[in-house]
Amino acid sequence: MKNEMGITRDAHARFFSKVDKDGPTVSHVDGLGPCWAWTAAVRRDGYGWLRVGGRMLRAHRVSWAIHNGPIPTGMCVCHRCDTRSCVNPEHFFLGTKGDNNRDCVAKKRHVPLPGEQNSQAKLTEAKVIQIRKLYATGGVSQKALGKRFGVAKSNIWSILSRKHWVHL
Ligand SMILES: [Zn+2]
Repeated sequence: MKNEMGITRDAHARFFSKVDKDGPTVSHVDGLGPCWAWTAAVRRDGYGWLRVGGRMLRAHRVSWAIHNGPIPTGMCVCHRCDTRSCVNPEHFFLGTKGDNNRDCVAKKRHVPLPGEQNSQAKLTEAKVIQIRKLYATGGVSQKALGKRFGVAKSNIWSILSRKHWVHL
């Protein structure tokens, strides 16, 4: 069994062995459940990667192929949740040819999804920038930041690790 991306039964099994559906990621897309954390290689660009048949493929594209079949030529698989390493197929949408992923994210940003609409609703862009600045300056813990801004420590973590608010 092989589809057009070369997703063999073996690759399928390996894919799921590297997914943590109850991972530390706190992103939720309304009505679609939490992100699936990728526990294998995540490159600097923020995407998870999986070796399939000697090729390194982006994990979210593999996920799409497993759940939805081949990715139409020239289309990119984008994240509604703004979490590039997320491999929850319900968080994906297809971008049009020529879009890069940054564009995809930007396009979807003003649809009622991540950022101010979800669990991060207590924060504004200005506050997020302030949180990152404070933390970078040092001497303040994530817990203390959470208290100060009235959000959970996990939210602070997701801001600092750019799981959320990646556009800032
Ligand atoms: Zn997600």
